[in-house]
Amino acid sequence: MPHVFPVNKFRSLQTPFYYYDLTLFQETLDKVKKHGLSKGYHVHYAIKANFNFRILELVREAGLGIDCVSGKEIERAIEAGFSPDQIAFAGVGKTDDEIRTGLKYNIFSFNCESLQELEVLNQLAKEAGKMATVSVRLNPNVEAKTHKYITTGLNENKFGINPEMLPQLFEMLPGLDNIKLTGIHFHIGSQIRDLKPFADLCEKVNLVQDRFEQEGVKLAHINVGGGYGINYENPDEEPHPDFESFFGVFEQHLDVREGQQVHFELGRSLVGQCGNLISKVLFVKEGINTNFAVIDAGMTELIRPALYQAAHNVDVLTSEKKPKTYDVVGPICETSDTFRKGIQLPEVKRGDLVAIRSAGAYGEVMSSGFNLREKVKAYYSDEV
Ligand SMILES: *Cc1c(COP(=O)(O)O)cnc(C)c1O
Repeated sequence: MPHVFPVNKFRSLQTPFYYYDLTLFQETLDKVKKHGLSKGYHVHYAIKANFNFRILELVREAGLGIDCVSGKEIERAIEAGFSPDQIAFAGVGKTDDEIRTGLKYNIFSFNCESLQELEVLNQLAKEAGKMATVSVRLNPNVEAKTHKYITTGLNENKFGINPEMLPQLFEMLPGLDNIKLTGIHFHIGSQIRDLKPFADLCEKVNLVQDRFEQEGVKLAHINVGGGYGINYENPDEEPHPDFESFFGVFEQHLDVREGQQVHFELGRSLVGQCGNLISKVLFVKEGINTNFAVIDAGMTELIRPALYQAAHNVDVLTSEKKPKTYDVVGPICETSDTFRKGIQLPEVKRGDLVAIRSAGAYGEVMSSGFNLREKVKAYYSDEV
């Protein structure tokens, strides 16, 4: 069943704009509640995927926490009403000011990504007269089988501490008086559709946990990160990912100790499918092998195709004519400003509306002002 958009309402709005289906978002959150929270799992929403307040409001009401990667994201989460003890803070390059922000609010966990960061955090916590609760991010060297730009858990990636450094970590820990190590953290990448890498991750986590226990370190929590993918090819067949199977993998493979908490950090899988970029056809131009549909949205509004070779579905909302072959391109002076190449679409003309699907995560938040383009508006399904 194709997704139904309020096309008549769209006609009166200035394009391009983002349109969020909050009913679908709520359904997705309900699945996470049903298959994750109900098992006692703690789920933090990765706020970087989409930090709009309307989205955050529903996340908070669903009882999820927040995963941040910058100081400003911590402040945004607090502003949106999240409690600091629901906030985890990761990132390879936290500035002193950002660390101080986390200390000020006494957040749930600093997910530290290097030994040097631990030393700096300890020092800043001492200066602030605080005790920082810390989870160390370890790089499990697990192949996530996703695009290389969104793989994060391999030795060659910049993220996390290599487990070979653990002896040094154990040596350092007793000297870090203002740090309380409470957990271990992992995040192997993004848009992972195959569940096997998550099972592999669990096996690695189990080994790492044993190592910590051999050193006499008991872990209050394990944070396995996020990265679960969505179906970009068929958003209408799979409007939300299969969370039952996802959480099931961890239930089956992760060795959880008595009283230990398990945390997740999900971004794309929660918010990806509920967002759409709505755009208008400016010009149609016949090419040699294809036709170009030049639309008024570009890589400035959705950079994923240019950055990750991502293919978002394009639905034509105002034509049911016979299909023709199109390259759907934006107006920006870059060849990579191309949404799709050689796809079949109902014949379009100047003024037709299209929806670029599955754009709720890493879409609007990654928009830029290149070519002096203005930031576009967002509309929500309950207000148009
Ligand atoms: C981006 C990020 C996530 C969320 O990734 P998704 O692929 O959107 O689920 C989780 N944890 C960390 C540390 C991240 O940087």
